[in-house]
This record gives sequence, structure tokens and C-alpha cells, in this order.
Amino acid sequence: MTTPGNNTARHVTIIGNGIVGLAIAHALNRDGMDVIVLDRGPVDEGTSTGNAGAIASAEMIPIAEPGLWKRIPGMLLDPLGPLHLRLAHLPHLLPWFYRFMQACRPADHARGIAAIAALLGRALPAHLEMLEAIKGRHMLSENGTLFVYRSEQAYAHEAEHWQARIDHGIDAFPLDRDGILQHEPGLGPEARLGYFTPNWAHYRDPKELLVALADDLRRRGVVFEQAEITGVERAGGGASALITSDARRIPVNELVIAAGAWSGRLSKQLGDSFPIEADRGYNTTLPNPGVDIRTMITFAEDNFVVTPMQMGLRIGGAVEMGGLEAAPNYQRSRALIQLARRYLPDLNVEGGSEWMGHRPSAPDSVPVISKSRQAANVHYAFGHGHLGLSMSMITGRLVADMIAGRDPGLDMAPYRIDRYR
Ligand SMILES: Cc1cc2nc3c(=O)[nH]c(=O)nc-3n(C[C@H](O)[C@H](O)[C@H](O)COP(=O)(O)OP(=O)(O)OC[C@H]3O[C@@H](n4cnc5c(N)ncnc54)[C@H](O)[C@@H]3O)c2cc1C
Repeated sequence: MTTPGNNTARHVTIIGNGIVGLAIAHALNRDGMDVIVLDRGPVDEGTSTGNAGAIASAEMIPIAEPGLWKRIPGMLLDPLGPLHLRLAHLPHLLPWFYRFMQACRPADHARGIAAIAALLGRALPAHLEMLEAIKGRHMLSENGTLFVYRSEQAYAHEAEHWQARIDHGIDAFPLDRDGILQHEPGLGPEARLGYFTPNWAHYRDPKELLVALADDLRRRGVVFEQAEITGVERAGGGASALITSDARRIPVNELVIAAGAWSGRLSKQLGDSFPIEADRGYNTTLPNPGVDIRTMITFAEDNFVVTPMQMGLRIGGAVEMGGLEAAPNYQRSRALIQLARRYLPDLNVEGGSEWMGHRPSAPDSVPVISKSRQAANVHYAFGHGHLGLSMSMITGRLVADMIAGRDPGLDMAPYRIDRYR
């Protein structure tokens, strides 16, 4: 085991082969470290493979915001609404929800925006560097995005969000109906007002990215091993070994926990409790949508997005606070399709494939990118919520900086695992 802050660490074990784990492996491999990535499942499954594909550089507004509590009951009662709560999960949700309500306070909300913006401002350059390294630039579309609104009221309500985005360096161009049609002639009459921002990119298929990145890492000597980690053995103030579900013992030198929504279970074993919840999101990918959509579009008022991908049009969103174990409820995906039809009346929904993923959600929407406070050789990278793909590559760099003892060039306090103590 090495002491934190020195740069003699050579062997790093990462738990999690999602996009965050792979981004960390990429950064550490560039630093000349020996890297092992452990996961219970293959690279081409899981939350990171089926998302909406955005590098959402403009999306810095935390979900918890002042006044949200007034809208929560209406959202929960709306069958097509963006928010759903599984009642059986409610007792488990309370510690997270308490912190969530605290994050709605104006000062906490403003701090959240700044912390997310600091990562998103560095997100696209970090992706481009990785894509150059793996010769994968063709997988990314850099043609910006539209935000679309049906009503003046919702447009006005979001004016503050747009001001915050502009204050953090985002270019935003307000659009009327004609302006929207110039970008997206296929949108129906419900698309009345909007914004275009060029500060946004999207992958044509997030699964393709994961597979390509993992292949590149394998070629460069990163080892991938299937293992379900059930325990962490401690010795001398750090983690000494991992215990697997088939009773193997895997010794570790430096350990990174990037296990998405499951990370809280592992951090708790090390004494670093953090309220992380699975925010379950849904989508449907339509192979022949029958509508011409050119850029990614956020339908902000109805809380869903559409992404033109190489395999079809992906329509997704929803927040279902239902824990890690419950089976998917694909009514949520179908509700999103109904919403999409409001804006895209000619949408062909034949042959769609439905999907659900677990967003690892921190109460304040700010990820944990942090050394353990309890185990000297353990580092955390989880809780990226709705922005895990966007923030993955910059997270990788920051973790590599932590392990190498380099100055990350960023105040890391907002991302600490013990920020709720
Ligand atoms: C509908 C939807 C749309 C989204 N759209 C976007 C988007 O457009 N842009 C964006 O930036 N983000 C988006 N996201 C969020 C993004 O997908 C997630 O934030 C991101 O995938 C999280 O990556 P991760 O590597 O932290 O976790 P994961 O991808 O969940 O990876 C964690 C890995 O850890 C493994 N693991 C966990 N516990 C153990 C254990 N004990 N032993 C072994 N292995 C373990 C799991 O098997 C898993 O493979 C979206 C999410 C959803 C659901």
C-alpha cells in the first residue's frame, strides 16, 4: 500500500467498468500505472451503455432547487409526470431526501451550480482528448442542442436557469417558433419557444463508446476481470484486499470505487457513509421514427430528451426513485413516448426497444470525487447522476491527479465524500 499524495503508486484496482471506471482507467494508463478493472458484468451492459449520449456542457442546474417542493406533489400525481416514487422504497429514501431538501436552499443550490459547472466546463475537452487517443472522434456529433418549450410560462420560469448558464460561459440563443424550425423543421406546432446552445455534443451510441474504449485499454495492457465484490478487507489504515462473491481474495494496492449507484454499499464498509440513491431513468429507441431530427433536443417543460443515434431516435428521461432491486416499470418509457408525440405527431413507434438504467444520484447532484477519509489508499468516483457520461473523462483526470499527488487545478472540496459530516 502506498501513502496518499506520493507518486510511487503503480498498481490501481478499479471497481466498476461503467464509463466512469473506464475513464479513470484511461487516465491512469496514460500516467503509466498498472490498472485492473473489476466488474460483475460485461462492459457492454449497464447504465453507461444505454443513456442519452450527451456531453451536456450546459446542464449545470442541480435537480434540487429553491421552490421545487411546491411542484413535487403535482409531479407525483401526474401519470405522465417526470417523477415517480416507489412507496416501498420510501423509508430507505429518507436520509437522501433530507439532504435533497437541504440542497434546495438558495445558497446550497448556487454552490451546486458552481461545482457542476466547474466539471462541465472541462468536460468536452477531456472527451476530445480521449477520442483523439483512441481514434474515436467519428463517434461524437458536435452540433449543439435545442431546448424547447410549449408555454410562455415555462419559458419564463427557466429564464433564471439560462442566466446561470450564461454566467458560467454558455452561449445561448433564444428562439421563437421560426427560429426553432430553422434548426429542426420536423418539430410540430407545440414547439413554440426555445434556446439553441452550441455547448453540447452527443455520442451516436454510448455502448459503442464503452466497447471502443475498453478495447483500446485492453490493447494498452489494462486487465479486465469479472468479479462481484462483496467485502473489503482492511489493514494498516487502508484497504488491503477485496473479497468476491465466489470467496476469492484480491489484494489491492491503490483502490478506486467507481461502482455507480452501488458505490454507497462499498464506501459504507470502509466507514465513508454517503447518501447515494438509484435515480432510475427510462428510454425507448425507435429504429424507424419517421421524423427528421438532427440535433439532440431537451423538452424542458416535460422533462425528456430525444437523441438522434445511429440505431434510431432515443426518447428518454424520467426520475423513478425506486432503489436498486425493483424490476423496471416500462410504463415510464411509454409515458415518455406519449409526451414525445405532443411535439412529434408523426412519430412512428413501431419496433422500439425499451431500457432502464440506474443513475447514481447524490442529493445535491454533485458527484463524489474524493479520497477516502477512512482508508488511505481508497479513492471514490461516483454519484454523477444525470451527467455521468458528460463528467466521466474529467473525473478520470481528477482521480489520476489525486493518485499521482498532482495539483488538479480545481478546488476539490465540493466533491468530498465527507461533505455532509
Ligand atoms: C435514461 C438515462 C439517460 C441518461 N443520459 C445521460 C446523458 O445524456 N449524458 C450523461 O452525461 N449522462 C446520462 N445519464 C447518466 C449516466 O448514464 C450515468 O451517470 C453513468 O452511466 C454512470 O456511470 P458509472 O460508471 O458511475 O456507473 P455505471 O455505469 O452504473 O457503472 C458501475 C459499474 O459498477 C459495477 N458494480 C457495482 N457494484 C459492484 C460490485 N459490488 N462488484 C463488481 N462490480 C460492481 C456495475 O456492474 C456497473 O457496471 C443517463 C442515465 C439514464 C438512466
